[in-house]
Amino acid sequence: MITVVGSLNLDLVAPVPHHPVPGETVLGGDIAQHSGGKGANQAVAAARLGGAVTLVGRVGDDDAADVLVESARGQGVDTTHLLRTRDVPTGRALIAVNLSGENSIIVSPGANSRLTAADCEAAAEALRTARVTVLQQEVPDAANHAAARLAGGMVLYNPAPAVTGAVPPAHVDLLIPNRTELAALTGSAEPETIDEVTAAARKLSGADAVLVTLGGDGVLLLEGSASLHIPAFPVRPTDTTGAGDAFCGALAVALAEGNSLEQAARWASAAAAISTTRTGAQGSSPHRDEVAALLAGHA
Ligand code: ADP
Repeated sequence: MITVVGSLNLDLVAPVPHHPVPGETVLGGDIAQHSGGKGANQAVAAARLGGAVTLVGRVGDDDAADVLVESARGQGVDTTHLLRTRDVPTGRALIAVNLSGENSIIVSPGANSRLTAADCEAAAEALRTARVTVLQQEVPDAANHAAARLAGGMVLYNPAPAVTGAVPPAHVDLLIPNRTELAALTGSAEPETIDEVTAAARKLSGADAVLVTLGGDGVLLLEGSASLHIPAFPVRPTDTTGAGDAFCGALAVALAEGNSLEQAARWASAAAAISTTRTGAQGSSPHRDEVAALLAGHA
């Protein structure tokens, strides 16, 4: 079993001819609404790959909450530990996309910011019995620290989005930053070459292993003194939104099934590569047979 502790957001996406400057009103196109939030995205990615997944989190007491809980449940995620929060709005992301595809995003965490250590205590059984627990940075540190302490299995920490000053839990089995998040954790400039990434990842303490995701450059795995670069699967990406979430969800499934870190990283790379060939976040993560087919083609 996999337990994900994290955020649920309703993403509202509006196409705009250009991003408004302060004081300006811009007429946009039709709004699209998607279920999102890193916690929900990773939980759904794992469930679509056949994982038995429980999501621990908070939603508000509004229509957006119903949409998010239903879409997670509809993808096979156990939503028993999703708590409703009175008089607080559900988390939302307001996303404007201009003609060249650049986003500007306002995240209103709402109920996500009310998740507490006590909420994680209430889900202690799900955390204790999980083979893998997955955490990110869209809920308060106190909740993540409690979850890491209560977790009976492996703890995966995805320090996303990059938050200056966020404090990862004291003991994490596997840290999964991208380049930007790695820079935020080390407090230095974004590393570019594989050697720079390796040097930066070696500075991180408090995790047994580090997997840095590098977009089209693949992933770097650091385990003890050993390091391994795994190139990305060659695909034609159309939308890389949510690639990191697809990667983390898939990694959790492979590790829960007893695979080594290297095997799990390769499998997750295949799943994430497929997700980049489709638009959207939750809906773009693949099913198991699709990952098997991609891997078979590269055997
Ligand atoms: P994030 O979405 O957090 O920024 P990345 O961009 O590093 O994360 O992507 C996560 C993983 O998705 C990568 O390590 C890689 O396995 C896969 N991926 C991302 N972009 C591509 C791409 N252009 N081609 C193939 N795989 C990709």
